[in-house]
Amino acid sequence: MKRRDFGQALLGLGAGMAISRPLVAEALPAHPLPLVMLDPGHGGHDPGAMAPDGTEEKTITLSAGFALHKALLATGRYRVAMTRTHDQFIALEQRVAIAVGAKADLFIALHCDHLPEADLRGASIFTLSSNASDGLAASIAADENQADNFAGPNMPGVTPQVANVLASLETRAMRISSANFAHDIRSSFKGVVPLLPDPLRSADFAVLRDPSVPSTLLEMGCLTNPLDEKLLRSPKHRKELADRLTAAIDLYFDNHAPSPKPHESRPHKASWRTS
Ligand SMILES: [Zn+2]
Repeated sequence: MKRRDFGQALLGLGAGMAISRPLVAEALPAHPLPLVMLDPGHGGHDPGAMAPDGTEEKTITLSAGFALHKALLATGRYRVAMTRTHDQFIALEQRVAIAVGAKADLFIALHCDHLPEADLRGASIFTLSSNASDGLAASIAADENQADNFAGPNMPGVTPQVANVLASLETRAMRISSANFAHDIRSSFKGVVPLLPDPLRSADFAVLRDPSVPSTLLEMGCLTNPLDEKLLRSPKHRKELADRLTAAIDLYFDNHAPSPKPHESRPHKASWRTS
């Protein structure tokens, strides 16, 4: 990614979009607003799922990302950034790196489902793990194995063993936060946005695997279902989705978000400038 593009992605700005308020160091209060990182799935040569009429998932996820960006900023409660703001391919690890580099407080990947049965419809919410299963065990093991990298070799004042335990605890705490956020989305969608019969699901998604950011992957609906496809293509429905997600994010930060740690310093915002 070019440096300018990276800056734009962090700021969540597309070409021609106005900066609603400056995200620079001197403009930030002592305790800056939480940063929500939106990750519109796919892009560039990766179209994602395809509807029967040729509608591409990458286009819907980007439009939904912009709608959510706008709705969140309107609350005045959050800083909001996006991993991509135009039709561009970004590798999964790069998406995670953008969120971690910006010290995001919440990461939301936006996708559309593609299911084998066309009559299945509705949104579903993925976290890295939530159900006891062999798959879960495998993903937990893989994640715990990442703790070494997360802790780093030289955590000041603690032995490597203690550092590993701390990292492991943080991983579990993030999983709990992610699961809480998934429940908040389900509560907020209920009765308004169609949901799959069993909407809380878990899988080993690469973009959900960083232990330092509570993360959820939302399948906003099924492109293989004609009713869902029609909804997903509708700006009115995407605004409804954005409003319900904003309500879920409000719920999460009001009730479930981990409190900031006193020793944590926020990123210096000079690196967020676009020029
Ligand atoms: Zn997808």
